[in-house]
Amino acid sequence: MNTPKFKSKLPKAATTIFTVMNQVAQKYNALNLAQGFPDFEVAPKLISLVSSYMQRGFNQYAPMQGALRLREVLSNSFVLNHNKFYDPITEITITSGATQAIYCAITTVVQPGDEVIVVEPAFDIYHPAIEMLGGKSIPIKLKAPNYKMDWQEFEDLMTEKTKMVVFNTPHNPTSAIFDYQDMLKLQELTNGTDIVVVSDEVYEHIIFDGEQHQSVCRFAELANRSFLIGSFGKTFHVTGWKIGFCLAPDSMMKEFRKIHQNVVFAGNHPMQLAIAEYMEDSENYLHVSEFYQQKRDYFMQLMKNSKLKAIPAHGTYFQLFDYSALSDMHDMEFTHWLAKEVGVATIPLSYFYSDNFDNKSIRICFAKNDNTLEQAAEKLCKI
Ligand code: GLN
Repeated sequence: MNTPKFKSKLPKAATTIFTVMNQVAQKYNALNLAQGFPDFEVAPKLISLVSSYMQRGFNQYAPMQGALRLREVLSNSFVLNHNKFYDPITEITITSGATQAIYCAITTVVQPGDEVIVVEPAFDIYHPAIEMLGGKSIPIKLKAPNYKMDWQEFEDLMTEKTKMVVFNTPHNPTSAIFDYQDMLKLQELTNGTDIVVVSDEVYEHIIFDGEQHQSVCRFAELANRSFLIGSFGKTFHVTGWKIGFCLAPDSMMKEFRKIHQNVVFAGNHPMQLAIAEYMEDSENYLHVSEFYQQKRDYFMQLMKNSKLKAIPAHGTYFQLFDYSALSDMHDMEFTHWLAKEVGVATIPLSYFYSDNFDNKSIRICFAKNDNTLEQAAEKLCKI
């Protein structure tokens, strides 16, 4: 019996590299430093809050906009961190992970034929969302080795059809950050246009060496045109809970919610309440950068004799390595070889480029126990 024939929405798409590399890691019994997720424990207090809310009966739908208490705590955290007020009633929505928030933000705006400037290397969900809506991704490559933006090139790519910019800082997969001047430039170039910014800031609390996270919300005119997306999963080491958020001016949020309510209606309730209570103490999220900086520094020290060349990481829990001194294999091939022969699963950087640009670089996730990092470094230093 044949199944019905229909036209693929994403004819060129394959299974995401994160799933592929998880399978590769399993197949070769390799240490999995590929997909970005922590392998250490979650704060016991947070876990017990979840079970307490479940036991107390908060097991039905959360409000469509998200639990009010969480929206309020989040609003306070943005005042504390950035001196920017988002109204919990009209300007904040809790989502099922940042992935859903990003999908909904793009869907809220993009119409067939619209152009969307996407900073590359780019997290893999941006392009497919744009493509499914009949929009056109216009990639702009950050410049290696520091992965800085060429703003002149950005300006040259702007046309009358440009409807959106997808921006990401701290940046996955390069670990670069956009600084104050970058943000001013983005603000200046979008000023006076109807361009909407989708600002993926899921690593907002993972930034190193005393740098400050330059959120779009710190720049009045940028804040006024941006969907700011965040993730509790990254901040509280709970990527599997799939809870994120979107902040935007109320007129934009009204439209966002029309999509959000039809995609998921609401994110899961007891975990939202648990995070709200846990986050009321800002001590529970203000030290994430220190925690990860220690991991980064420890891993870098373990890797100091490796022939893999580290590209300085300023934020996120990823570290890029240039392997050109070791091999001229394509990075896809190199990561498979590394998993099979060395026993460490990583992510090839080319996956994040729409033209599969091969910069002979791999991404390693260091959100791991010291023991995992030690084992991985030992293997990698032997190459
Ligand atoms: N953000 C994670 C990463 O970059 C992956 C999330 C996912 O698998 N969708 O590794």
